[in-house]
Amino acid sequence: ESFDAMGLQENLLRGIYAYGFEKPSAIQQRGIVPFCKGLDVIQQAQSGTGKTATFCSGILQQLDYSLVECQALVLAPTRELAQQIEKVMRALGDYLGVKVHACVGGTSVREDQRILSSGVHVVVGTPGRVFDMLRRQSLRPDNIKMFVLDEADEMLSRGFKDQIYDIFQLLPPKIQVGVFSATMPPEALEITRKFMNKPVRILV
Ligand code: AMP
Repeated sequence: ESFDAMGLQENLLRGIYAYGFEKPSAIQQRGIVPFCKGLDVIQQAQSGTGKTATFCSGILQQLDYSLVECQALVLAPTRELAQQIEKVMRALGDYLGVKVHACVGGTSVREDQRILSSGVHVVVGTPGRVFDMLRRQSLRPDNIKMFVLDEADEMLSRGFKDQIYDIFQLLPPKIQVGVFSATMPPEALEITRKFMNKPVRILV
């Protein structure tokens, strides 16, 4: 299987190849197409398997680039991971003109607000700062149609459960959800039961 056979937009393929990927990894082979179809997807995979490019491609394929409003929200457990995802999303979406911003703690709230008000397609962030931006209405959820939890087990073990639920409450009702997690502890299963609709399960 190749990236070419996945039905991805030409400008997304260009971004993938320019980033240096030649062949999809196992998780990418199994996960990108269902995500692009708008299905809810649970992917149980360790880091190092290529999960970041899986959900980044799925998001980039489905964005409406003529609408400069947040359409996809990705949550990650640490600032470093959120910023890493931001970089990958920006690189893969370079030829699509994607606008991505990382909302993480320890940075200027004002600067986040400035960038969000200037318009972005995708927000990647840690739960605390993302919830703060939603609460202040600096991040408007009305157009969000994709919600990804990366390293869900790690977010739960860091005590972000309540914030994840609070964020989910503020999102539109019919939203596509992707959950990526190395392990599936009971709290992670509870999230999949409460947030997801007939999820496709992929174990790598
Ligand atoms: P991740 O699991 O998303 O953290 O990715 C782990 C590493 O694999 C990163 O350094 C990626 O750049 C790399 N990687 C992901 N997908 C591919 C691919 N299809 N071909 C080559 N390297 C990849």
